[in-house]
Amino acid sequence: MNFKKSQQAFSEAKRYIPGGVNSPVRAFKSVGLDPIFIEKAKGSKIFDIDGNCYIDYICSWGPLILGHSNDRIIKGIEEIFAKGTSYGVPTEIETSMAKKIVEAVPSVDKVRMVNSGTEATMSALRLARAYTNKNKIIKFGGCYHGHSDGLLVKSGSGTLTYGIPTSPGVNSTVIEDTIVCEYNNIDSVKKAFREYSNDIAAIIVEPVAGNMGVVEADLDFLKYLRDITNENKSLLIFDEVITGFRLAYGGAGEVYDIKPDITCFGKIIGGGLPVGAYGGKAEIMDMIAPLGPVYQAGTLSGNPLAMHMGYKTIEILEENPKIYEELERKAVKLEEGFKEHIASLDIKATVNRVKGMLCLFMGEGPMDSYDQVMKSDTDKYSIFFREMLNRGILFPPAQFEGLFLSTEHSDEDIEKTLEFAYEALKIAY
Ligand code: PLP
Repeated sequence: MNFKKSQQAFSEAKRYIPGGVNSPVRAFKSVGLDPIFIEKAKGSKIFDIDGNCYIDYICSWGPLILGHSNDRIIKGIEEIFAKGTSYGVPTEIETSMAKKIVEAVPSVDKVRMVNSGTEATMSALRLARAYTNKNKIIKFGGCYHGHSDGLLVKSGSGTLTYGIPTSPGVNSTVIEDTIVCEYNNIDSVKKAFREYSNDIAAIIVEPVAGNMGVVEADLDFLKYLRDITNENKSLLIFDEVITGFRLAYGGAGEVYDIKPDITCFGKIIGGGLPVGAYGGKAEIMDMIAPLGPVYQAGTLSGNPLAMHMGYKTIEILEENPKIYEELERKAVKLEEGFKEHIASLDIKATVNRVKGMLCLFMGEGPMDSYDQVMKSDTDKYSIFFREMLNRGILFPPAQFEGLFLSTEHSDEDIEKTLEFAYEALKIAY
């Protein structure tokens, strides 16, 4: 495959953009390559500026559950453009969007739109602190909740990939109030509550971790988080920026039948445009300005274009509940195919899958904790990634990310992916 134009574009980008990318996970640095630059995408396929076509398992890191440039959601967008792109005063579609989320997620009575997942989690924590009148928060190693200061501690995603799970520049006094516990480890949470029980405002957790690969939370662990926060008058925050409307229409809250106090959303609810949201019990949400004293605002929050794309996406998901069965069926097909390869090549690799979310780890399982995941062989993953790319399959350019499937990934796409994965695994091992 020829990547000449992408390489030229990257050289030029590096002159003006730090690292040549606007988000670290877009650089292919950890897999030893220059990134490909994209010309266009449709359905499950993405095309780079050299004219190469790939089956895409990044899918913008999660928003595109209906695939790229889905005709049904982009229909009508030009009319919205023609009417104006942002007003700074309310629109009815913001209410329609909020209503859809409230109806889909029973623990959410009211919801506030923001512009990114980072804003959603950051604002949710401020609200939790104000509501409980407590200071500390618990997060888990390997979970990523965006790049606000207090949450950039032992985090996942790009920070794991680049070996900077706690970023320089984060004020030490800010993170004094961030307690890091171990994912799936009840004792570590017990210990934190013993030590700081009167001052823990909230636990924030990815109910399925999607930023250290894919790691499922034990149901007992999630139930414990619900119980201990209730007992201590702390709040439980589910970060469903990835899992919301992906794991099921009602997200992880529905799948595990647990009602958090606040839920954070992003990705799918913007249909590919910048968006985030946080919602929860009315009594908590009503503390937000202008009704209450907790300040949080946004020039472009509830932007009509993002609302249109998000609303249409959610509407399609609501009208077609079979989409979730189909996503899971495709994920199972990939899981089983990978497992057959692992067995027939007799290699140490592991597949984790939760519903339609999955990840292939280059290491021996079980991959059920941060420490286990960190034992994955990232060099082998890099070789695997490069071999797949050269065969027209775009996997996430980092071991610690999940694969994103869409309604547009066909059985043929999956069969091709599996055929090439066999060859790529053989070379990597
Ligand atoms: N929370 C989770 C679980 C995420 O995966 C991400 C981003 O990947 C975020 C929060 C931050 O969202 P954003 O990148 O929109 O700021």
